Amino acid sequence: MNMKIWFITGASRGLGCEIARAALESGDQVVATARKPEQAEVELAGQAGGRLLTLKLDVTNQASIDAAVDAASKRFGRIDVLVNNAGYGQLGAFEQQSLADIDRQFATNVFGVFAVTRAVLPLMRAQRSGLVFTVSSTGGLAGAEGGSVYCATKHALEGWSESLRIELAQFGIKTTLIEPGFFRTDFLDPSSVFYGDIAISDYANYSAGVRDYLDQMNHQQAGDPAKLGKALVTLAASDDPPVRFAASSDAYDILIDRAERNRAEADQWRELSMSTAVAE
Ligand code: NAP
Repeated sequence: MNMKIWFITGASRGLGCEIARAALESGDQVVATARKPEQAEVELAGQAGGRLLTLKLDVTNQASIDAAVDAASKRFGRIDVLVNNAGYGQLGAFEQQSLADIDRQFATNVFGVFAVTRAVLPLMRAQRSGLVFTVSSTGGLAGAEGGSVYCATKHALEGWSESLRIELAQFGIKTTLIEPGFFRTDFLDPSSVFYGDIAISDYANYSAGVRDYLDQMNHQQAGDPAKLGKALVTLAASDDPPVRFAASSDAYDILIDRAERNRAEADQWRELSMSTAVAE
């Protein structure tokens, strides 16, 4: 295929914006969706010519999803690459998160991804082709300090995307999980991140430590979003994109470490595992 049509969520800033920029630079056409599409327009319009369409889309608002997919389909007639990128971190000790905060985290990071993908898949099925990138996280590969709720959302995406890949293969549609380590975006900035705010004295020191560590990391992360954008263009050009792609060396290390720990633990408990079969 020559020129691809990309449909990207959360393209106003951070990874989504850089993925859109890289796709445009590669000569493709991009539907850059965002809660603030004017911000995506300012970031991306200069280099795009007529190859950019910016649209309003909040992944928690079904009407905005339907309207954006409809507008993209009318303008370009197809969607080749969906990038489920929009998301944020709800961080801190589990007991300090309110149920309302947990609901909001799942509404964006999980149910938002489901809703957008459900709106795009009928087009891809009709085309008998397509690629669904879902931006997960190393927090989808392994649990992390202060990350119980956020990691739960990203682990949900892991099982979902890997299963979807199996059932969509019959239609020529592929799925790939993107597993970023720490990337230099607004992810840890007060403009994006949320911390649980239920005060529990037992957690005071623990939470202050987690918060200090992550605050110091804000805008100092090693990962370069522009390079991640280019990596997605490379993956999209592959005939056989991976189930999951470790984005950055920290993500690579976590992926390998997790696999090795799983293996060692399974071997350690092997005898007990095998003992649970029905005795014939
Ligand atoms: P970011 O700079 O904070 O950007 C987040 C983007 O998501 C913004 O465009 C934001 O839009 C958008 N967004 C949030 N809620 C939305 C909603 N309800 N509807 C539509 N858009 C929404 O952070 P980022 O690092 O680029 O994050 C992008 C993705 O990468 C997220 O899924 C995140 O979990 C994942 N990730 C990031 C890192 C990292 O270290 N940066 C690591 C692992 C995974 P507004 O501008 O309107 O707020």
